[in-house]
Amino acid sequence: MSNDKLEQKIAIIGAGAVGSTIAYSAMVKNLAAEIILVDLNKDKERGEVLDMCDALSFCETNIVRVGGYKDVADSDIIILTAGVAQKPGESRLDLVTKNKSIVSSIFKEIGNIKSTAIIVVVSNPVDVITYLVQEISGLPKNQVFGTGTCLDSARLRSNLAKRLSVDGKQIDGFVLGEHGDGEFVAWSTVSVAGKPIAEILSPEEMNNVYEEVKNEVYEIIKLKGATYYGIAMAVVDILEALILNQNKILPVSYRLENYNGVSDICLGATAVVGSNGIIKSWPIELNEIEQNKFQDSAKKIKEYI
Ligand code: NAD
Repeated sequence: MSNDKLEQKIAIIGAGAVGSTIAYSAMVKNLAAEIILVDLNKDKERGEVLDMCDALSFCETNIVRVGGYKDVADSDIIILTAGVAQKPGESRLDLVTKNKSIVSSIFKEIGNIKSTAIIVVVSNPVDVITYLVQEISGLPKNQVFGTGTCLDSARLRSNLAKRLSVDGKQIDGFVLGEHGDGEFVAWSTVSVAGKPIAEILSPEEMNNVYEEVKNEVYEIIKLKGATYYGIAMAVVDILEALILNQNKILPVSYRLENYNGVSDICLGATAVVGSNGIIKSWPIELNEIEQNKFQDSAKKIKEYI
């Protein structure tokens, strides 16, 4: 990937709620010279681009445009958001058959991708789709990863920040495992400005936080049909790590090698993210209960892969 910030070309496949919000957020954050939106629905694609271009003169980004798969193949960073989204009552894993087929057909059409490109997978179920894209994209596995439990960890920080009346940026810790109903809060990793969470919350309170974080997606989808602001900023956080070579430790979905006993699947786990994608795994030794939850999550995802 080119490290010249203002030369970055980002292609976003899928200009729906998530794809267009990621494009807008990346533009406002001045993260790329050129942002390309690609969608099967040409009216939606064109409408989003026209609307976003109205904001261009306020940003450093030079170009926001529609594009085709040839443009995707030539981009520095490719963000995959195409596919069907959850309807009220549906889980992310309910989307697996349709989205596997949509994503396979997209990559067939893209053909050969620039060898230094990084692919960030957002489409759900993200752990399964990331594995699929690693298999079919032809890129090294460290250059293809999913958003994993970045959004869930952000939800955890926001929930605790509100509950404790403190700045969410001073809360450290991760939701790990499946981005879905099998996720869990790795409480042994959570602290507030250095103070372990177990000294702040009771086990019952921690369980309430976990339930709220896990179920928030269902509440938002019931109320407004889709979730997109949180995931857009989680992707911006990843883009900053890639473009600015930050070596940021994030709970992304990547190909694991003996991470708490789990290998050869993609699952939300901590890794160092920099300009070449996954720079290295960042293993955290989980306690026995958390390890069991992580391994249960892995078994479930393996079945869907
Ligand atoms: P959406 O329905 O608004 O947008 C999906 C877009 O994909 C549509 O515009 C559709 O036309 C397009 N599309 C479908 N097939 C295509 C193809 N072959 N080529 C190009 N475009 C195609 O859905 P959304 O709310 O934007 O959600 C998108 C995906 O992101 C869903 O799978 C959703 O579950 C997922 N998501 C993931 C996270 C996460 O944390 N990873 C968070 C929120 C949503």
